[in-house]
Amino acid sequence: MTSTQTPTEELDAVILGAGVAGLYQLHQLREQGLRVRAIDKAGDVGGTWWWNRYPGARFDSEAYIYQYYFDEQLYKDWSWSEKFPGQPEVEQWLHYVTDRLDLRKDIQFSTAITSAHFDEDRGRWTITTDAGDVIDAQFFVSCAGMLSAPMEHPFEGQDSFRGPILHTSKWPAGGIDLAGKRVGVVGIGATGIQVIQTIADEVAHLTVFARTPQYTLPMKSPHYGQEEQAAYKARFDELKSTIPHTFSGFEYEWAHAWADCTPEKRLEVLEEIYEDGSLKLWLAGFGEMFFSPEVSEEISEFVRGKMRARLKDDPHLCDVLIPTDYGFGTHRVPLERDYLEVYLRDNVDLVGVRDNPIARITPDGIELADGTVTELDVIVLATGFDAGTGSLTRIDVRGREGRSLTADWGRDIRTMMGLGVHGYPNLLTTAVPLAPSAALCNMTTCLSQQTEWISDAIKHVREQGKQTIEPTKDGEDAWVAHHEETSGATLIAQTTGWYLGSNVPGKPRRVLSYCGGVGTYRQKCDEVAANGYPGFAIA
Ligand SMILES: Cc1cc2nc3c(=O)[nH]c(=O)nc-3n(C[C@H](O)[C@H](O)[C@H](O)COP(=O)(O)OP(=O)(O)OC[C@H]3O[C@@H](n4cnc5c(N)ncnc54)[C@H](O)[C@@H]3O)c2cc1C
Repeated sequence: MTSTQTPTEELDAVILGAGVAGLYQLHQLREQGLRVRAIDKAGDVGGTWWWNRYPGARFDSEAYIYQYYFDEQLYKDWSWSEKFPGQPEVEQWLHYVTDRLDLRKDIQFSTAITSAHFDEDRGRWTITTDAGDVIDAQFFVSCAGMLSAPMEHPFEGQDSFRGPILHTSKWPAGGIDLAGKRVGVVGIGATGIQVIQTIADEVAHLTVFARTPQYTLPMKSPHYGQEEQAAYKARFDELKSTIPHTFSGFEYEWAHAWADCTPEKRLEVLEEIYEDGSLKLWLAGFGEMFFSPEVSEEISEFVRGKMRARLKDDPHLCDVLIPTDYGFGTHRVPLERDYLEVYLRDNVDLVGVRDNPIARITPDGIELADGTVTELDVIVLATGFDAGTGSLTRIDVRGREGRSLTADWGRDIRTMMGLGVHGYPNLLTTAVPLAPSAALCNMTTCLSQQTEWISDAIKHVREQGKQTIEPTKDGEDAWVAHHEETSGATLIAQTTGWYLGSNVPGKPRRVLSYCGGVGTYRQKCDEVAANGYPGFAIA
């Protein structure tokens, strides 16, 4: 397809997004001497950590493993105040990185990319923005984020509500005063949980609308003084050499084999890692949990027991909040702080909407299918994202012969290793489906690896005097088949939820994240690069 618009500018590469991935990608491509710009509709750097300013937003990854490891001094000159800091501190860290690498001058903020069309005759992309830019670029690198396309309008009648309706990722920078208000929170995923536990104290009355129960783990976030900071910084070499090769890109690895442990030993291990106050129970306990229904059920029951005790065995709370129809770890596991105890408060009501769903939003509040209306002053939508695909399918991306990515992914979600899509030469992607992602990865680990692979691929194309790189049909078919086999072997494939896109009406069903492990995935990517990019056509 040939774009009819006259370019206002010519670049080697355009990067969509200035979050964790986009910033590092920009740095790398600039170091290669490319003329490159990152474009983000956000008002500043940070991506996820710019948008998600809702009360209680914080890390579930240990801060010191979420950092970049490519520059020791960059790593060591930043100090975290606690193990799992809140959004403001994460955002500050990304400002620090931006300033240290002098990235800002090559980022265009408050600008949305609206279309990207590949011109087959010239082997280049024409990228347009809502600011009127028409950019001619050889490479279009998407760092659009896995969780950046919010599900903002899930209910009819939203426009009629008299008070504010806030999606968690669109929280106003100055905050909003919830004191004395009747607030409704819709959704109890990782985000909803953080909001609920944070605002319960402040609001006059909180009503939580809960559809899918979640297994939760209590977080412990010790304060870091100079001694603790020095201790984790001293581990830089060890962390740098191990984290990229673990199953989840965290610092921990499966520590035990279920079959080798007696029932007493298993319980001892579960108790010990539960007490750690991190995601260890999910990602460093027993890997068999993802494959064996029996192991999954035993570990799930362990977590349910902890939750029941905290909910004082209240039948209504336990029924609505404790999962019984899927296994622990097959959905994203949220960490929380005194979250379950919130439901024991007098000013908090829990409304289960599994069997009596939200019908609509009315001027006064939220109406359920049975006609019950809860009157509210503020509605918080913790309704999540169109994960993995949403940010790219919301813009007009056209590949060879004018094919549309929105239409292609609307039929079937396919990528080559999450790094590109057949039919879209020189579109290189991070955080899209079929690579390890937010579901099962500490994201800076995965995004660093993916951006480094992309930089190497671009370098390779240019050094060979070639113009384009594109996944072959056969290469992509083989990766999709491998992905299906790998994810199909896990219990994740038997669930529903955003891991499989089932929170978005009409979205084709597929486990979005690669489940073969971060270390294994990296090895496969490295092999592709080392062997001259089999599975990709370079022309
Ligand atoms: C609340 C929350 C907490 C999280 N906590 C963790 C955690 O503890 N650990 C972890 O590993 N991961 C976590 N994640 C996942 C998180 O998304 C990643 O860790 C990481 O920040 C993603 O970086 P990114 O650069 O891939 O994408 P993002 O940070 O999402 O950045 C993408 C950018 O692309 C921009 N963009 C999208 N479309 C367009 C367009 N058309 N035009 C211009 N710009 C566009 C967006 O504005 C956005 O700024 C969390 C996610 C959320 C939502």
